[in-house]
Amino acid sequence: MIDLKSGSEFNTAAFVLAHDLVNENGIPITFKRHKFLLAPYMEESKRLVVKKASQIGFSTLAIIKSFHLAKYKKANVIYTLPSKSIVRDFVSPKIVPLVDSNSVLKQMMGETDNLGLKSVGDRFIYFRSSWEPASAIAISAHILINDEVDRSNQLTLSTYQTRLDAALLDRPDLGWWWRFSNPTVDGYGTDAVYQESDQKKWFIKCSRCNQYQELKWPDSINMQTEQYICVFCKRTLSEDDRTNGEWVKKYFGRDISGYQMSQFMAPWIGAKKIIENSKGDQSIFYNFTLGEAYTSKDIQITRESITKCLYPTTNPMTNVVIGVDNGIIKHYVCRNKYGVFRIGSTEDWGEIEHLRNQYDAYMVIDANPYPTPVLKLCEKYRGKVFMNYYDEDGKTDEIIRWGEGDKSMVVKADRTKILDATVADINSQDILFNFSLTELENNQFIAHCLNEYRIVEESAKGIVRGVWRCIEGKPDHFLHALVYSTIALQKTLGMGGVAHTPKPGKEESAYVSPTYAKQDGTIVSGFDFNRLKQQLGRPQRLKEKRY
Ligand SMILES: [Zn+2]
Repeated sequence: MIDLKSGSEFNTAAFVLAHDLVNENGIPITFKRHKFLLAPYMEESKRLVVKKASQIGFSTLAIIKSFHLAKYKKANVIYTLPSKSIVRDFVSPKIVPLVDSNSVLKQMMGETDNLGLKSVGDRFIYFRSSWEPASAIAISAHILINDEVDRSNQLTLSTYQTRLDAALLDRPDLGWWWRFSNPTVDGYGTDAVYQESDQKKWFIKCSRCNQYQELKWPDSINMQTEQYICVFCKRTLSEDDRTNGEWVKKYFGRDISGYQMSQFMAPWIGAKKIIENSKGDQSIFYNFTLGEAYTSKDIQITRESITKCLYPTTNPMTNVVIGVDNGIIKHYVCRNKYGVFRIGSTEDWGEIEHLRNQYDAYMVIDANPYPTPVLKLCEKYRGKVFMNYYDEDGKTDEIIRWGEGDKSMVVKADRTKILDATVADINSQDILFNFSLTELENNQFIAHCLNEYRIVEESAKGIVRGVWRCIEGKPDHFLHALVYSTIALQKTLGMGGVAHTPKPGKEESAYVSPTYAKQDGTIVSGFDFNRLKQQLGRPQRLKEKRY
């Protein structure tokens, strides 16, 4: 048998123990409390996928493994992250302190120590953003590590994949790819790859009844006592029970090694914390606490939910609002409280103006990418035509903010929340379409809606929030035109136009509360759709019976 020191060249787990490595916070990495990480540290599969919760020590593992592989396997490693600022989000906060606190890693470093490129021995680790397509082309590597896969640009990731194929000719023993992420929706990103893997889950044994089991939400937690319990005998599980599990495969003979990691496996995270997290946004809870994909019926747009909103009838076309999506081709949606009655597209701003005049409508137009013609319309039809800017970072509590004074033609809408609200309205049939199915299909309205999906993203500051994304290369203009019409609708409902933020100490009157979670997983507040609905009102059906 070889000792730990000699073993450390062959194996990352031995390497960690032999050199008493500490994590970026200076806490020793031991496998007593991180037992579930031992197998991934020892892992040498060519194809590895990890669908994981946050706060379980996985990034540290990935960095240490990259160094180890570069040094002892003599591999060039590409390490991708979704962020546009690798340096700000990853290199500075994680890699620098990790290297600084572990002399063995420091000694491994070669002369090159740029922010995006580190030399280890005579090899390199490239830290690259998945949002810079050009950077994918020039590098080839033996090992490709994709961190935060689900939040990365999938097209760029596939470009990196081709770089790996080239390296295989040089080193047929390598050509590894590893993919890690907090999952997002079912069947996407890491969840999709995990489905093709051997699907390992963490099984523990209850020390009372000796039954093997997977820790599950909500069965493994007693909500009253706020403790982990055995799903069989219902008695309390000890921290040791929870720590001393083992990885069990669902499938044999599959060449992708897959792990699913939840916060249940981390002995330092108690049941109380899990219960707290469960009370917030469900997609955040599933993705970041349970390490599971989550598809909410409330926040996905389905074909079925749209068809349920069909209500072909003659609309009186009074009190009309129009939402316009800006572009070479402008897409518009005309509606009132009885429903959406006209949709279409044009290349001509004159036609948009004509539409506005035809119905004397309130109109909200996307300010970008061509603000000048929009500004002209705003000035010509002051108080009737507005230009919208999406607020992407959700800094304010308001969904819709109408400008004042010389900014009175500008409206800002929280992009995620207004999309959430519009989609929730579709799902609750609070938006009606006065069309037949064929009519909606023919002008691509349904297709545009289905191209949009919601995921949850975590910012550098650890703020987690939902984001709507469009399938790459597909159009979503009509959905946004519908959203702009929802904004415009607020002008016709006698709400005074402005949704005020609550005064300090008057939280109960909050118009809407932001959904976000801290890096430790604490859910700060939930989002109340009903408040918005009260503001926007329910649509009025002109006939009792629906088609
Ligand atoms: Zn038991």
